[in-house]
Amino acid sequence: MRGRIDEAGALREELEAERQARRDAERLAEENARALYDRQDELELLEMVAGASNEATAIEPALGAAIVHVCAHMRWPVGHAYLSDEASGTLRSTSVWYLEDEARYSAFRDATERSTAPGLPTRVVKAGEPAWVADVATEPEFQRAEVAMGAGLRSGFAFPVLMGTQTVGALEFFSDRPAEPDPVLLGLMAQIGVQLGRVVERERAREELERSNADLEAFAYLASHDLAAPLRAVSGFVSLLGRRYHDRLDDEGREIIGYAIDGVQRMQAMIDDLLLYSRAGTADLQRQDVAAHGLVAAALRDLAPALAETGAAVEVGELPTVHADAGQLQRVFQNLLSNAMKYTAPDVEPRVLVSCRDLDAAWEIAVADNGIGIEPRNAERVFEMFARVHGGADYRGTGLGLAISRRIVERHGGRLWVEPNAGGGSVFRLTLPR
Ligand code: ADP
Repeated sequence: MRGRIDEAGALREELEAERQARRDAERLAEENARALYDRQDELELLEMVAGASNEATAIEPALGAAIVHVCAHMRWPVGHAYLSDEASGTLRSTSVWYLEDEARYSAFRDATERSTAPGLPTRVVKAGEPAWVADVATEPEFQRAEVAMGAGLRSGFAFPVLMGTQTVGALEFFSDRPAEPDPVLLGLMAQIGVQLGRVVERERAREELERSNADLEAFAYLASHDLAAPLRAVSGFVSLLGRRYHDRLDDEGREIIGYAIDGVQRMQAMIDDLLLYSRAGTADLQRQDVAAHGLVAAALRDLAPALAETGAAVEVGELPTVHADAGQLQRVFQNLLSNAMKYTAPDVEPRVLVSCRDLDAAWEIAVADNGIGIEPRNAERVFEMFARVHGGADYRGTGLGLAISRRIVERHGGRLWVEPNAGGGSVFRLTLPR
């Protein structure tokens, strides 16, 4: 009998152990599933913030998207962004907020915006690390405790927006429950901080470029404007000297005057082109429906001397009516055609073909030549200001024609680029929206 009882007891124990093992396994499986689910959630959050950051063309929308996604992920009702001033590094509150309930949290928002150096983000910027307020009621350094508690906010945390090691901003979030620091969350936010830092970096680089372009433009305008008058005077006097003293000068004297006049003329061309470049970026576009064929014909008339000199065979295919500033577009054709006649290959009869393709949303007009061509590595450089890739002494020019042309085409909403021509030479293509 005793043996039977012992046996039943052992069986029960075994059964119980088995049940326990099954419960443990189920709990573990459930925990793993939850961890996986959380991970999935985190990855989705990172993906959404990365997507918004990549698409953003300004800092504020990227910060706004990050705040909305983080608040939704954490189920935290308040989020807010700060940016550091580029020059002084001081933190300033932005108008980028997420408030789950506008009426409930607006007093907290107003108090935050009134505060010149809120403790939480300032701590983050100083340390370059996240900061956590587990309970606003017991944290002595948290200055906005009263108004936060009035709105039912209990805990908060903030993390830095990092550009490399430099803190360029901070995001802060608040919850309506006390919350302890969470290492997983901190790791996640660190990644978001780096992503947003890239947007700040991109935006600052863009602003810097705009600033330097504006400086260059102001310089171009001033230089072209202010240099024109004295240069005209020099040109006039040197020509006069050449004419009046022609008989009293020897050959060498006349040659020197010839060089001086040549130099002045080149400078004149440079100044004229600088003025055109700065106008191409600023003058209002006078758009109208205009036959591209007529513009090409007018450009060719202006180029008659070059045409006669090179003997180039120019063929113009069927061209559309485009909606463009006639004067400016004619300038583009003139630049492209004059280059096609200038950069000709030795011992090859120069041929130029102007043609057009219908791309539905745009017209693509091509100016193709069989000249010396442009190496692919220089295909972008030739559009830069003053860039000349073929020997300066052999070909006259200012290095501004293509920069002006690209500017004009881009202001029309199109593109201008160069490709090698199949049989040698170059094809310049420009698009114009229809
Ligand atoms: P410029 O002709 O006054 O030098 P551009 O801006 O018109 O200035 O052209 C920039 C450079 O691009 C030229 O110096 C030349 O080296 C190259 N280039 C332009 N057009 C052609 C072309 N059709 N074929 C070969 N090289 C060209």
